[in-house]
Amino acid sequence: MNNNLIDLAKSLLEIKSLSPNDNGCFDVVESYLEPLGFETKRINYLNIENLYSSIGSKGPLFCFLGHTDVVPSGPEELWDIDPFKPEVIDDYLIGRGAADMKGAVATFLLAVKEFLNENPNPSYRICVFLNSNEEGERENGKIDRVIKDLQDDGEFIDYCLVGEASSSAKLADTIRLGRRGSLSGILKINGKQGHVAYPEKVKNPIHIAGTLIDILKQTEWDKGNEFFQPTSFQISNISSGTGATNVVPGDLEMKFNIRFSSESSEESLKEKILQILDRNNIDYDIEWALNAIPFITKKTFFKDVIIKSINDVVGYKPQINNGGGTSDGRWIAPMGTEVVELGPINETIHQINEKVNIHDLDNLKNIYKKILINLNQS
Ligand SMILES: [Zn+2]
Repeated sequence: MNNNLIDLAKSLLEIKSLSPNDNGCFDVVESYLEPLGFETKRINYLNIENLYSSIGSKGPLFCFLGHTDVVPSGPEELWDIDPFKPEVIDDYLIGRGAADMKGAVATFLLAVKEFLNENPNPSYRICVFLNSNEEGERENGKIDRVIKDLQDDGEFIDYCLVGEASSSAKLADTIRLGRRGSLSGILKINGKQGHVAYPEKVKNPIHIAGTLIDILKQTEWDKGNEFFQPTSFQISNISSGTGATNVVPGDLEMKFNIRFSSESSEESLKEKILQILDRNNIDYDIEWALNAIPFITKKTFFKDVIIKSINDVVGYKPQINNGGGTSDGRWIAPMGTEVVELGPINETIHQINEKVNIHDLDNLKNIYKKILINLNQS
């Protein structure tokens, strides 16, 4: 097994870097890249930290995009190990962030080191771009500011490889060329509180919600398209009630989220929901939050390099699936960059005992390295 890779991954996993704090992971990355000739910039704003480390002075720009922050471990007593004291057990590296996505970050660092040792003067430039708040809240900052600074400096990322855990049943069986959009809402349904024994004097917001949920559940938002599955609506929280069995509550709050394809837009979805509320004479207040708009890479050059590289290493081709949550690829894609997501198996991400197979990591390193080699030859 590749001990360099496991040791490097472990040195990142040992750092408790809960969003939006990098907490020192960038120091590990910077000290790894510096001897290879990379120049590193640290860019901080709001509560997000960013590392932008680059090498080369000619040709198109290839970017490895990732994050060093992780989600909380959840109850530590449910883990087989201390979530921030990574261990290899039965060929799996276990620890918070193993699959999402410190394993992939370590893997890319080793791949780029091996590649540059063998190809000291590639035909393109390489950058490693990491941030500390991919998993965290928007208010703490996202990478959009750094992208804007890059663009203001006249910089353009040609190819972006996002190391998020895209694989499903086996390594590299799935890549993503885009992601759906995400629109959230908080709906307050206003009713009229009163005694349950006097139905004529109350307006029960829970009953109103029942009918409304049924309609929303059955609504066809769009049919999707060749890149995306149809838009889906999900309710994530409902709260209402005074706690007493004999009181009809005065209001109800419902939180929902829509994952939408490029056949829908923020505007079209809002309009549809408001129409449904009005048509059903519902007295409501609503607050919206647009988390992401859909993005898709339609150019094929980089995608084809990646598919070829996967096939060269593991002997099969990935399927393309643009599902899953949002990713930081959404900030890069609007530049016109070709964005492809390829990373380890996503089975255990954000879960108790998050893990990644150590042979998968080694193979992923070989695939990442092959991508760098194939790009250099095309
Ligand atoms: Zn992630």
